[in-house]
Amino acid sequence: PRRVVTGLQPTGELHLGNYFGALRRCVQLQEQGEDVMVFIADLHSFTGRQEAGERQSRTLQAAAAVLAAGLQPERAVLFVQSAVARHAELCWLLACLATHARLAHLPQYKEKAATMKEVPVGLLLYPVLQAADILVYRGTHVPVGADQAQHLQVAAQLVRTFHHRYGRAFPTPRALLPDDGSDRIRSLRDPSKKMSKSDPDPKSRILLTDSDDVIRLKIRKAVTDCNPQVTFDPEGRAGVSNLVRLHCLARGLVPEEALCEAEGLTSAQYKEVVARALCECVAPVRARLCELAARPRLLHEVLRHGAARARRRADEVYERVAELTGLPPRL
Ligand code: ATP
Ligand code: MG
Repeated sequence: PRRVVTGLQPTGELHLGNYFGALRRCVQLQEQGEDVMVFIADLHSFTGRQEAGERQSRTLQAAAAVLAAGLQPERAVLFVQSAVARHAELCWLLACLATHARLAHLPQYKEKAATMKEVPVGLLLYPVLQAADILVYRGTHVPVGADQAQHLQVAAQLVRTFHHRYGRAFPTPRALLPDDGSDRIRSLRDPSKKMSKSDPDPKSRILLTDSDDVIRLKIRKAVTDCNPQVTFDPEGRAGVSNLVRLHCLARGLVPEEALCEAEGLTSAQYKEVVARALCECVAPVRARLCELAARPRLLHEVLRHGAARARRRADEVYERVAELTGLPPRL
């Protein structure tokens, strides 16, 4: 059976990259009748620094964003990663199968580690915990941004190694890659980078809580190039192409249709069109997010229910793992 699993870190307010690249796709998969599990990856957020209170409030806010995007807690499972201890338990077993050399070679690790004086071991283990997040539910399909493709290869490798060493316990998880570019939304300030929560420049991303005015301002300030024409060429003209992409995702268009609407407009004029489309797309999500943020008890209740379901599923898988590895059964 297919099972979709994906996570979001509580490292900041969610942006359009998270929305188009992860949240909205999960909701679409839910609508298609897939078995969808979404978790707030609070354990992952420990690879960076955060105050306890901040972690807590962002966790709740991320959960609210998932629901605001349309995930239905009766149909899909929404929970907080740390509420299911099996993630960390399986992570240890997998860490003992992963090699230091392989992990230390991953570009994301190298990039982050290069900026640090003291590199925490957790940063190295990040993809291993990610593999555990998926495998602990026997996840088969993972709708993530393109930035996570290499980490999924690590997960696939760990599945092979585990099978070799102990026997079959997990299907090989696969990245679900969309063909609309929603998995690779670029920064508005530096289109060579992806849009990120952790980017120090707040104008680099549009948040789901941004007002129409703020959205318009950020799009107006979006970096393009000196060519005022609107064309779609993600490699050669990343900036303006990112705007075309956002326009398409907001309105459900293909790039040719978006370019039609841009006909006769300079890129500065086209930005107004894109901003309008994004405002319309974000408004209902923002409104629901605002409502939900005011209902922490409801959110806690949803997360508690989700964690109970997730724990049951993880326990089932772990039983098989225990049997294969010689750990005592604990069901
Ligand atoms: P951080 O900078 O803290 O890593 P992030 O913006 O990368 O934050 P994550 O919580 O790491 O967000 O990722 C959540 C999900 O959103 C993942 O599935 C990730 O692949 C996806 N995602 C993140 N950025 C983008 C983007 N620019 N375009 C498409 N998907 C994205
Ligand atoms: Mg990230």
